[in-house]
Amino acid sequence: MMPINAAEWIELVHAPLLVVGADCRVQAANAAAAALLMSDPRGQALCDLVGDFAGDLLAAVLDQTLPSDELVLDCVLPTGDAKLGFRFARPADASDVTVLTLARHAADPGPHPPVVEWSRLLQTVVERLPVGVEIYDSGFNELYANHLSDDLFLYDDTPLRPHHDAWWDRAFPDPEVRGRVIEEWQHLIHAARADQSSVLRTEWEVVCRDGASRIIQFRFRIIGDTYVVVFWDVTERRRLEQEFRRLAGTDALTDTYNRRRFFEAGGAEFNLADLSGHDLCLLMLDMDRFKRINDQFGHGAGDTVLKEVAARCRAVLRQNDIIARMGGEEFAILLPGADKDYGAGVAQRLMAAIRSEPITSAALTFHVQASIGIAVREPDDPNLEAMLERADRALYLAKARGRSRIVVGDSTLRT
Ligand code: GH3
Ligand code: MG
Ligand code: MG
Repeated sequence: MMPINAAEWIELVHAPLLVVGADCRVQAANAAAAALLMSDPRGQALCDLVGDFAGDLLAAVLDQTLPSDELVLDCVLPTGDAKLGFRFARPADASDVTVLTLARHAADPGPHPPVVEWSRLLQTVVERLPVGVEIYDSGFNELYANHLSDDLFLYDDTPLRPHHDAWWDRAFPDPEVRGRVIEEWQHLIHAARADQSSVLRTEWEVVCRDGASRIIQFRFRIIGDTYVVVFWDVTERRRLEQEFRRLAGTDALTDTYNRRRFFEAGGAEFNLADLSGHDLCLLMLDMDRFKRINDQFGHGAGDTVLKEVAARCRAVLRQNDIIARMGGEEFAILLPGADKDYGAGVAQRLMAAIRSEPITSAALTFHVQASIGIAVREPDDPNLEAMLERADRALYLAKARGRSRIVVGDSTLRT
């Protein structure tokens, strides 16, 4: 018989302690024992707690067939194998129970790190990665696709995940685009096969499951017999980049191109014209006596006039003409495909648009005018700068000849 308060006493003992009956079942155990054995030992058979080998030896000692008051045994615990020391004591007034104190043996390395089920963990991780993951066999049959892949490409009208070939039709409804993209893909596959250590990448605008077009970046490589494709949505990043690029090339006041962008875009037009032999015409426009506006009415009034002049010019120009504020109140206007006559006609329309009506700012009214110098591309012009120099010289002549006029090369037009 146990003393009535034994269950409370044993909780006061810091060492792991079990009270075991003659049937080898645990009658009482303190918290230290539960922690060491990683389970609640009460009511359990010793064999179930520490494994058959250790359990049988403990039973032999309890049965007094094995004389010992101390044993070190290899035990099987829920955390793995452990070497534990057991000391036995029998209360004088309760010969059918044995008190076991337990200790982790000094040679025992301690609990093993928890055994991780790697395959399941990895699958869960890949399943929920914030990038799309797809795996294909060598015949391009899909073996695996994670959640994000489903979110983007598991189209509603496909009850089963489409075979890879079916994806192209849905992702690229325009047959022409589809043809181009598939051709690029085949090139990439070819390159991936040739160099299996390479990671290839591409970026396509793709119609997704929800019907929206998104720019998706794909990277893939061959691993063994499988093709592994990972992808993510870069739509927003590309939109921002485009916006930054636009802002970096834009004059904030007039919303026309700035000088840097003019040479970038204008240089490309020059090269095109140079290669194809097409006409190209450049106008340099400078406001006449602009300083007076600033001096008399302040910089703010001057700014309003510049903005309005730019807007009026743009209204005259075609979509693919280029207008840039080159500095101050001077604009460059590049007209692809335009010969001298067409350029002179545009210059006259620009002059008319600027002069047609006075520009108002607050309660003020400004009658403004401009001078324009024109240069057309000559076959031996090495670059756009050569045209710019001629247009500048023509502009200088226009100013020198009294302003508010157009000079083509060195001949003044009546306006
Ligand atoms: P001209 O007929 O010879 O061209 O006379 P102008 O007074 O227009 O002389 P010029 O072209 O040399 O002077 C340009 C003036 O434009 C100088 C400056 O006060 C003014 N300006 C330059 N940039 C800005 C700007 O961003 N805003 C405003 N309001 N004025 C500017
Ligand atoms: Mg001026
Ligand atoms: Mg100027």
